[in-house]
Amino acid sequence: MSERVVLVGYGPVGARLIEGLLPAVRDGRIDLTVIGAETHDVYNRVLLAEYAVGRADRDGLDMGDRLVAEEAGVRFVLGMTVVGVDRDRRVVRLHDGIRIPYDRLVLATGARANVPTLAGLERAQRHRAARPGVPDQLDHGSAPLPRGVVALRDLADAEHVRAAVSAGQRIVVLGAGVLGMELALAAAEAGAEVMVAYHSAAPMNRTLDENGGRVLAAAATTVGVEMMHHARAESIVQRYDDHGQAWFDGLVCADGKVLAGDLLVLSCGVAARTEVASLAGLAISSGVLVDGASRSWTDPHVFAIGDCAHVADPADAGADGRVPGGPSGLIGPGWRQADRLAALLSSGVSSAGAAVPAPVERPGVVMLKAEGIDVVAGGAVDADPFSHAPGCHGPQVTLWADPARGAYVKLVTVDGVLTGFVAVGMPRTGAELTLLFERGSELPADRSSLLRLDAPDTGMAVVADPFAADATVCWCNGVSAGAIREAVAAGEPTVACVKASTRAGTGCGGCVGRISELLAREAVPA
Ligand SMILES: Cc1cc2nc3c(=O)[nH]c(=O)nc-3n(C[C@H](O)[C@H](O)[C@H](O)COP(=O)(O)OP(=O)(O)OC[C@H]3O[C@@H](n4cnc5c(N)ncnc54)[C@H](O)[C@@H]3O)c2cc1C
Repeated sequence: MSERVVLVGYGPVGARLIEGLLPAVRDGRIDLTVIGAETHDVYNRVLLAEYAVGRADRDGLDMGDRLVAEEAGVRFVLGMTVVGVDRDRRVVRLHDGIRIPYDRLVLATGARANVPTLAGLERAQRHRAARPGVPDQLDHGSAPLPRGVVALRDLADAEHVRAAVSAGQRIVVLGAGVLGMELALAAAEAGAEVMVAYHSAAPMNRTLDENGGRVLAAAATTVGVEMMHHARAESIVQRYDDHGQAWFDGLVCADGKVLAGDLLVLSCGVAARTEVASLAGLAISSGVLVDGASRSWTDPHVFAIGDCAHVADPADAGADGRVPGGPSGLIGPGWRQADRLAALLSSGVSSAGAAVPAPVERPGVVMLKAEGIDVVAGGAVDADPFSHAPGCHGPQVTLWADPARGAYVKLVTVDGVLTGFVAVGMPRTGAELTLLFERGSELPADRSSLLRLDAPDTGMAVVADPFAADATVCWCNGVSAGAIREAVAAGEPTVACVKASTRAGTGCGGCVGRISELLAREAVPA
């Protein structure tokens, strides 16, 4: 008899699970029902900013193939929200009252954008358990965001930004994390008037050190983005149109300054959507707590993957109940969880048993996707350059800054091994450091050899080949240069062919340029 798997959430990670389960669905081992709150087919959320600024068209966001899945026997229930789970009876309840039974339940409910506490905006609640009287409102605040205020998380948000960008309107972005900066830079390039307001001294302060952030801020200013640091937003002001409808008109800061604009884009981070799990009494920390096999700490019949899942070992929970880590908010780890879970569910192995240890994820590297502004960073970069005497054990720091030319590098090493780095305006150095960081390699004793990689016409040999067989080219899908070469050898030497056969370039798309460069290299006989 086939096992009934119910998947809640049809985002990119849910779509990947469906793909992995198709063979088991086709041969009748799994009976799969997918419930998704959005009415659209799945789309690549990572590319929403590209769509919002007119760089990608709607078709370019499509992913997954619902028709193929339906032909295989998968049932889709779209435009429906799961509002409750009866774990004793193993049934999920939809907002219209329909109940769907399961043997195994997979939550892939993703994340929602944080709405900051500002007078004029309702703060979205993460756990709706406090309001069970309005189950169909589970996913919504009691009031929608005011007109002219969006948090770029779904297609509808992207449509608003797209309209503002194409009309050349003034956009205020609140928050200068990587998403806020990418959107601001792309919108400015597309002709919008853009300001970024952020409370820290420098942008991307969770990824870059302050000096690196200041060099980035200067580069953004040069390309027309107004950067407003130390901006403590307190409220919004609205104006009324001819029909008496209120629209965003400006963001008011603690010092009384009003940052006027036509559209406010909230870019203040995301929070896992855990409300269904919370109502079902599942253990939750920053996301639904699951072990290394994506299995809930509370119930072996329930799993969670992607942006809603907090993968951790139960033994790591502190005495105060706190659990370190949290959802990565990145698509790559979610896709790897989906692949592993598809294999587990397809194998038919019982989900009961001891907790599976959390898999070791490679250290993350953050690359800003922006035309002409190269920013890449990884690891912990806060170490103070002067806190350790030469030869001492502990983090040692190498710094190089040329702010007038928009270039900055910080290297943090422990016992000669790179544990954190920032490279702004230094593309070749940044690529080299990414590779050394990924490999956990020791840095050359003369650190300045790395800095000179970006010097014009030095003829310097690159210390390590960025296209060495084990070098990661696509971080979202974990595809190496070697795997791409193999795909090229087996098929057409085109980016489309590489995408289709290895999945490289199908996530954030930030590596497509590097894939093209690799293909160009391969085409040139040595
Ligand atoms: C603008 C933007 C840029 C990004 N850039 C990058 C990047 O460069 N690199 C990167 O790695 N990541 C990036 N991300 C993050 C990436 O998009 C997420 O990691 C990815 O979307 C997670 O996929 P998911 O399927 O887990 O969750 P989601 O994409 O959030 O999908 C979850 C789905 O579940 C549905 N759902 C939720 N609750 C219910 C319910 N109760 N009933 C039914 N359905 C429900 C939701 O409607 C949604 O469709 C970006 C995100 C955004 C918004």
